[in-house]
Amino acid sequence: MTIPSGMSWVLKKIMKCREIFDNGNMIHEYETDGRFSINKCYQAIREPTLQVSWKRLVCNNRATPKSLFITWLAVLNRLSTKSRLAQWNLIADTTCELCNNGEEDIHHLFFQCEYSAEVWRNCLRILKITRTPVSFLEEVMIASEQCRRRHKKNKLYGMLFTEAIYHIWLQRNQKIFEGQHKTTEQIVNVIVFNVAARVDDNMRKLLIR
Ligand SMILES: [Zn+2]
Repeated sequence: MTIPSGMSWVLKKIMKCREIFDNGNMIHEYETDGRFSINKCYQAIREPTLQVSWKRLVCNNRATPKSLFITWLAVLNRLSTKSRLAQWNLIADTTCELCNNGEEDIHHLFFQCEYSAEVWRNCLRILKITRTPVSFLEEVMIASEQCRRRHKKNKLYGMLFTEAIYHIWLQRNQKIFEGQHKTTEQIVNVIVFNVAARVDDNMRKLLIR
């Protein structure tokens, strides 16, 4: 059957999938123990893609979907920071609203900024980690490595990291659009609450300060 031109986009796509199985016994290549494997089929037909080192941070993390999305944008440097807006000549002043000290780009916002550094330092303390935040890219690498591990504390680390990025971004927006932001202590409490709401009792006990 030829595919009718008036057919909907979805049905055309489905009909086009026939080509994948048309050549002889190709369907057997997608089997595991005699059963059709959607995973194998998907891997075979999708475009080849590069794996990114931080994939576990976004894909192996139980934090809220909103925080994962903002983290994903941050890692790709796609958040509309003042530095990026200035590149498009949309604004002239790039001063960070959270500390009024330094140019607001992704590296300043996470976590060179005094405000965000304080938030992340306090999140780390909850996990009994005492250190000064390092550069954003290093922090992303550390968090990605933590997300690869199975221990409860490692899972909490990844969740706290993405929630911290999300809530710092929200506070930055709140300061710009409403002229005020919460204290670092209030924000850490919100971050911990959001993480605690998405884990089991054993993991929640590790968050008690
Ligand atoms: Zn700042």
